[in-house]
Amino acid sequence: MMTDDLAPLEREIRRRIEIAGPMAVVQYMSLCLTHPKHGYYTTRDPLGARGDFTTAPEISQMFGELIGLWTAAAWRAMDSPPKIRLVEMGPGRGTMMLDALRAAKVMPDFHAALAVHLVEISPTLEQIQRNALTGSTVPVMWHKSIEEVPEGPLIVLANEFFDALPIQQAVMCADGWHERVIKIDENDKLHFSIARDPIPLFDELLPSGLHNAKIGEIFEWREDKIALELGRRVAHFGGAALIIDYGHAESAIGDTLQAVSGHAFADPLAAPGQADLTAHVDFQALGLAAEGMRARVHGPLGQGEFLRRLGIEQRAAALKAGAPPEYASAIETALARLTNEDSKGMGKLIKAVALANPKLEALPGFETE
Ligand code: SAH
Repeated sequence: MMTDDLAPLEREIRRRIEIAGPMAVVQYMSLCLTHPKHGYYTTRDPLGARGDFTTAPEISQMFGELIGLWTAAAWRAMDSPPKIRLVEMGPGRGTMMLDALRAAKVMPDFHAALAVHLVEISPTLEQIQRNALTGSTVPVMWHKSIEEVPEGPLIVLANEFFDALPIQQAVMCADGWHERVIKIDENDKLHFSIARDPIPLFDELLPSGLHNAKIGEIFEWREDKIALELGRRVAHFGGAALIIDYGHAESAIGDTLQAVSGHAFADPLAAPGQADLTAHVDFQALGLAAEGMRARVHGPLGQGEFLRRLGIEQRAAALKAGAPPEYASAIETALARLTNEDSKGMGKLIKAVALANPKLEALPGFETE
């Protein structure tokens, strides 16, 4: 293939493979999403009807409002400290924070205690967030990573953030687990393959119950760095982190790496940096990392159940009562999309988990856990 015809990121990936050999999935995913010049998030606003995918806050204001009320309740459970950092990881267009802050206004003491810290890697999305939050009376600051946020008590929100963090994959072979890599095949196309040598002692690192994987099956995992840091901060300084994402409650075998472009599934290798790449969150691994730092894990439970417990049905009814009749069906549709547990809804596959300081007994939505 004439590499001149290729998009700059694909050219760079091919050049790296030619020089350094097969590329691990983790490196590929990370270049595709956050390459400083050509990464998917770096170069565009991927959200909404004209983008590639839609998230809960973009579906309805009800989502961010309920999250805002959850945040206020978490703050009360912390004995209402006079200053609190509200941190959001990967805020997208800033919609959820905007709706949460508006809902928080009904509790003036909470609203007055807030300083917002947004952790965003994409300069494009940071600019959109700055525009969205210009009118805010709460101070707002931006950071490139959680480590940059000053230490102290905090409440963290992360919606569809962890699924955008790169994963590593290993494939079970006759002689053990091999890392899944990307090569250039004989037709000059990017394709999935496996590293030549098995990963030493990988079986010992696998969660129990996954030792009878069959040949060809895939296990995937993520670096724990952010989960460890969130767990450490809430346990050490006080507070909680609410994480809402696509994922499974228990570690499992399976390939969940997927590409989405224009609201449809795509081939993850077809157009590097042009499609959204995600993989499910392993909530068991996430929880274990946070527990290792002495945080307490609440949940996970399905987004549908979580939002119902926070009162989404009552909120939808109130909105309908106050809106012109032509909006009523839009509110119903949004409610169904956010909470339905079938394959079209976000109610079950998307889950909510809280990592909290052990002193926080009850957190709204997680009461019976
Ligand atoms: N929470 C938003 C957006 C989800 S998309 C919503 O629900 O609509 C993922 C977000 O995480 C984007 O804002 C993206 O730019 C950001 N992001 C992805 N990887 C990141 C990283 N490593 N560090 C910080 N932000 C990241």
